[in-house]
Amino acid sequence: MRDRPLDVLAEMTRGMLDARDRSSRLQVVTDAALRLTPANHASVRLCDLGDRLHSGARSGVGADRPAPSVRKGQGVLGWVAQTGEAARVRDIGEDPRFTPIEKRDFAVSSLVSVPICARGETLGVLSLSAPERDAFGDDHQALAMLLAHAAAQALVTSELEELSITDSHTLAFNRRYLLPRLQQEMERAARQGQALSVLLIDLDHFKRVNDRHGHAVGDTVLRAFADTVREEVRSIDVLVRRGGEEFVLLMPNTADEAAHLVAERLRLRLATEPLRVRADLQLVQTVSVGVATWDGSESPEALEERADLAMYVAKHDGRNRVVHARPSSPAPGIAPSSAPDLAGAAAKH
Ligand code: GH3
Ligand code: MG
Ligand code: MG
Repeated sequence: MRDRPLDVLAEMTRGMLDARDRSSRLQVVTDAALRLTPANHASVRLCDLGDRLHSGARSGVGADRPAPSVRKGQGVLGWVAQTGEAARVRDIGEDPRFTPIEKRDFAVSSLVSVPICARGETLGVLSLSAPERDAFGDDHQALAMLLAHAAAQALVTSELEELSITDSHTLAFNRRYLLPRLQQEMERAARQGQALSVLLIDLDHFKRVNDRHGHAVGDTVLRAFADTVREEVRSIDVLVRRGGEEFVLLMPNTADEAAHLVAERLRLRLATEPLRVRADLQLVQTVSVGVATWDGSESPEALEERADLAMYVAKHDGRNRVVHARPSSPAPGIAPSSAPDLAGAAAKH
């Protein structure tokens, strides 16, 4: 028996609120389309700045294989993208707009394809297809429009999220903030004759947390981790979420030894003090940290890369450790965290 439409719509809107990025928001829409209509395949394609439509999300038969590429104006989807009008095709053999997509490996006899529009612009196309002819009626087309509006909302939300400077979940700054802020801090450090260091922090085996406890617990761990870092460092230090479970901490007025001490103190705290996830669940989440200190002339990208390489050495050496970056000028290799003069950190610097 098909799901009750209102239940599916309620689940869909809930799912969109919970989803954290564009592709998972769109996936919620294509998944709902399969439950609401006779479609066995649903896709969202997004218009790029040129004339191509690239895949945003797919559900149903064939969804696990790469989506064939489509141009605006090509086939029914391309027609919808170009005209901004909906199309319902009862039998593809009878519709002159239909051009078979090369390498499609599932049967299509009928389809509904509707534009995804916001602010007067066509952002993409939602398409539903079925192997039987004439599978879609007026109600299905109306549902497809509703789903296209939900997809448009998802795109607008995602765009706003990408533009904002903080990551709403961890309250760290977003990736796009990293390089400009590093540049600014370098200028300030040069002006004031101060040191500047960065930590590149990657959570160890974080995928296992999601696999064992679910994505929601993973999210809470990320938040608890970010809170712990903020507790452990000065208020002038800047935490940036570089990507999923990778963070950069910018430490103004901090030379290499002090940066190493902070990194080691943070590593130790995380390795010994479980993060509280729920009343009944605490998890130890270790980190691998790369430490790099600005050499006074290198670019923000170069500094980030040195910290990154050091972090990879920490991973390679077994994780749950701090590694100091190779100096930018030719010099000896990487100093391990066990350097005697750096051990035994305690107070905030
Ligand atoms: P390693 O020790 O080598 O870093 O292993 P890892 O599992 O941490 O690294 P990998 O890069 O393989 O996996 C990172 C995982 O982080 C995969 C991804 O699902 C998860 N992740 C990324 N962003 C988020 C998020 O916002 N929430 C949750 N729950 N998981 C996320
Ligand atoms: Mg990781
Ligand atoms: Mg990572």
